[in-house]
Amino acid sequence: MNCVNKYLNHSYTYIESWYRGDYMGCPNIEVCPYINSRNENEIIEYKNNFCNSDYFKCARFIAGNITGEVPDDLRPDDFKEAEKIVRTDK
Ligand code: SF4
Repeated sequence: MNCVNKYLNHSYTYIESWYRGDYMGCPNIEVCPYINSRNENEIIEYKNNFCNSDYFKCARFIAGNITGEVPDDLRPDDFKEAEKIVRTDK
């Protein structure tokens, strides 16, 4: 399964659980390479600021939804790089 399909499948799962009212975090949290390849100390702030709250403000989430795929090492707060990725995805 490619990355785009993974994101889409998780998005559908998220929409279902959001509709039921039992999940409020980022729909990508289980498959997000940035979050799942680092230790908890490195990502706790990102999880607090994005993944478990305002995930729709995350650079990875925004760019990923526009382009379908983002580099594994794109930081959730690296909006400059996310903008470059979006601009070159034409
Ligand atoms: S880093 Fe961004 S895309 Fe990844 S799980 Fe957190 S909010 Fe979602």
